[in-house]
Amino acid sequence: MLNNYRYTAAERFMRYVQVDTQSDPHSRTQPSTPTQKDLSLILVEELKAIGVADAHLDDFGYVYATIPSNTEKKVPVICFCSHVDTAPDCSGSNVKPILHKAYAGQDIILPDDRTQVLRMEEYPYLQQLKGNDLITASGLTLLGSDDKAGVAEIMDLANYLCTHPDVKHGTIKILFTPDEEVGRGTDKADLQKLGADYAYTLDGGEKGDLEDETFSADGVKVTINGVSAHPGYAKDKMVNALKIAGQILGALPKDRLAPEATEGRRGFIHPVNISGSAEQCEIEFIIRDFETPGLKKKEDFLRTLVEETVRVFPKAGFEFQVTEQYRNMKEVLDVHPNVISFAKEAITRAGLEVKMESIRGGTDGSRLSFMGLPCPNLFTGMQAIHSKLEYISVQDMEKAVETLVHLVQVWEEKS
Ligand SMILES: [Zn+2]
Repeated sequence: MLNNYRYTAAERFMRYVQVDTQSDPHSRTQPSTPTQKDLSLILVEELKAIGVADAHLDDFGYVYATIPSNTEKKVPVICFCSHVDTAPDCSGSNVKPILHKAYAGQDIILPDDRTQVLRMEEYPYLQQLKGNDLITASGLTLLGSDDKAGVAEIMDLANYLCTHPDVKHGTIKILFTPDEEVGRGTDKADLQKLGADYAYTLDGGEKGDLEDETFSADGVKVTINGVSAHPGYAKDKMVNALKIAGQILGALPKDRLAPEATEGRRGFIHPVNISGSAEQCEIEFIIRDFETPGLKKKEDFLRTLVEETVRVFPKAGFEFQVTEQYRNMKEVLDVHPNVISFAKEAITRAGLEVKMESIRGGTDGSRLSFMGLPCPNLFTGMQAIHSKLEYISVQDMEKAVETLVHLVQVWEEKS
């Protein structure tokens, strides 16, 4: 607990979720939906009211702000980053947040659609939240804790630091991004302008979670070249590329190397699209592994499987094209061990157990890390995200704020 501090994270969160900021993967504009700026403008005004004078929104929908250093020491510039948009998977308009005080461990029926029931047996983390105040949506929409929880917590950090000048810290940068959920969160981020040395995204789940790993990811496009002929006169001439593609897909392992058969630290080979005709057919795959050399092994395995399948058809051929998508951010973070060790120290000072997690996907943090801004991911408390059953504990949000307050002090102390 921060001494006698009245947290503002939950109150802010309840307001922010009522602003529809759903992003749109089909839009070509930046940000993808103009409503995202509605929330960003509110954040700028609130930051200014707190005393963060340079807070501003740029044309692309990014909010930049600086909390100046208040120490004589030379401390690395630390950025905290969250995204304002919510996922396109589930409606984000007219979100009605509900505060459930002192959760007693019962199932929670959401009032606007009584078939939406948050059950402890399905969401075992609820067990740990007995006695906490929970926030849910009303049953018709997602809640938007991904990532408005992170936004509200960073805002509360700003509020805390501006009202507690005795708490020593270096220069703190704040970055709120649009369009993370449609994979464009860092496209227009101006890191030069941001001027941070290290960053943390607040976009994680359970209290104590610290994520320093993402998948490494490649895309593979296999093009199969068959031989077309008039089907009425195709005997001994036609080689159907679609049928070869079918054999390749059928030959993929079923009990391993597939998303539906793997978890934890195991990667996979995953066909995501197929298109074409008898003459030519393309299969697109995504390849995932926590180790970048592991990607190469999976690609070699796939190439051999394609080769052996196509070899049976002497007149057919294939092309195999690998495209790099993103890399495990641990490759960057391992070079900057303080970023993780100071975060662990801050989580511990907040009275929590550190839980190191790996993300079976990518994050804005992994992109930022490879753009030159090492950036692991911290917990926010968000749960059951992208669904109508989304929930978050007020006390978890406050623990996240407390962790951030410790974190800026750890950086100051150890510099
Ligand atoms: Zn998120």
